[in-house]
Amino acid sequence: MAEIDVVVVGAGLAGLSAARNLVAAGRSVAVLEARERVGGRTMGESLSNGVAVEMGGQWVGPTQDVVLALIKELGLETFASYDEGDAITYVDGEALRFSDETYGLPAESAAEVGRMWAEIEALASTVSTESPWETDGAEELDRQTLDGWLVNNTRDEIVRRFFRIMVPAVFSAEAPEMSLLHFLFYVRSGTSFETLVSTTGGAQESRVLGGTHQISERIAAELGDRVRLGAVVRTIRQDENGVVVEFEGGSVSAGRAVVAIPQTLAGRIRYVPALPAARDALTQQFPAGSVIKFQIGYDTPFWRQDGLNGTVMSLDDTFNVVLDNSPVDASCGVLVGFIEGKHARAAALLTPSERRQVVVDALVKYFGPRAAEPFDVVEQDWNAEEFTRGCYGGRLGAGAWTQYGKAVAAPVDRIHWAGAETSPIWNGYMDGAIRSGRRAADEVLAASARRGDRRESL
Ligand SMILES: Cc1cc2nc3c(=O)[nH]c(=O)nc-3n(C[C@H](O)[C@H](O)[C@H](O)COP(=O)(O)OP(=O)(O)OC[C@H]3O[C@@H](n4cnc5c(N)ncnc54)[C@H](O)[C@@H]3O)c2cc1C
Repeated sequence: MAEIDVVVVGAGLAGLSAARNLVAAGRSVAVLEARERVGGRTMGESLSNGVAVEMGGQWVGPTQDVVLALIKELGLETFASYDEGDAITYVDGEALRFSDETYGLPAESAAEVGRMWAEIEALASTVSTESPWETDGAEELDRQTLDGWLVNNTRDEIVRRFFRIMVPAVFSAEAPEMSLLHFLFYVRSGTSFETLVSTTGGAQESRVLGGTHQISERIAAELGDRVRLGAVVRTIRQDENGVVVEFEGGSVSAGRAVVAIPQTLAGRIRYVPALPAARDALTQQFPAGSVIKFQIGYDTPFWRQDGLNGTVMSLDDTFNVVLDNSPVDASCGVLVGFIEGKHARAAALLTPSERRQVVVDALVKYFGPRAAEPFDVVEQDWNAEEFTRGCYGGRLGAGAWTQYGKAVAAPVDRIHWAGAETSPIWNGYMDGAIRSGRRAADEVLAASARRGDRRESL
């Protein structure tokens, strides 16, 4: 049994950011991490030729000021994602090349997409990111699913299909799986829908040389033996004196706890005394999406010679979102792509070689016969991960924000909540995760100063 100020559960970006700030403020801290690595939903991998790729979060972009500053502070570098040339939209077997905001769609559908898009941006600008449930008309926005709104607002089947691909591309969840309010909140928290889906000027603008997992690894190196790997937290007890966090293999007693894991997983921890009903119910409302991420290596980025930027969105296929992910020196070609939402759940039932075939067949369709022979295909199914159970992040279905939203980040006495899903800014993203950890650290410092806790060395 250790006696310390704060125990942090989870060594993703949120937990590590909380711990870093608490240590900087002079607090004694332990971080308990279930996996044998830090970084959570960021994860480094390499192709068979040694080129680094990321199997989790990878892009950063403008207005993600916190993650961008941290990358710099930790001595890491960013580089621009490749974004020169045309992109392709596939509709009913036809390849539509484009380099403008039409997405290559037929004129009428393109205009209708533009109209719907403007409506999304206008509605999102009305949402309160700090308290979405207090948005004007929140109940109306929350009672309908995003898909219901799409169906009610356009008759154009191509436009509906377009947004039904765009939505999983951003959330890895289907349009019927989230409320309109959640969608709009998320859009606003990431600046705009345009920002979320864009490369240059948007959320996919830049990458971190060597991989984003290094952010967590560098913070963990600073924290040293305060970080304990392989520590699966099962029970958190609290009373008026502090908390006792029990993990497989031991326990830590502290003044306060910061729980920095996805909500559904936080709901699987036992709390003594039991959590207030509203908080527990919240954890039952916050499922993650489904995604299998693929990195496909080629000898060269051959699509560039055809004037293509590597971006494909297919309204027809399972493997339907692809981007150029080649290293900065283009020493080889890498395409990154995703099977998302319902397609991910179906593809998870295939064997790895069947999935590889689905991916390669789609790439041959998009880029021609040269795509048939990648030197490597690496995949990561995030739903299969015991300590993630889905990505990119959690989302709330119809009615959940207005019924349970207040519980998203509200501390339960000595337990504070962090994680990308608790951030009003860049919710679900690395930037939001870091902000949430820092917010939780501030909460702990303020609360412990107020209460003068016995175990907290103030
Ligand atoms: C495929 C994919 C692509 C993405 N793309 C992007 C992107 O391009 N840009 C972007 O900004 N974001 C992206 N994201 C999202 C981003 O990675 C996450 O928002 C962010 O990393 C979440 O950090 P976190 O600390 O909140 O949670 P996590 O990273 O999930 O950290 C939680 C930690 O808690 C641990 N844990 C869980 N349960 C327990 C337990 N019981 N006891 C102890 N430890 C436990 C986990 O192992 C994990 O290390 C992507 C995510 C995925 C999966």
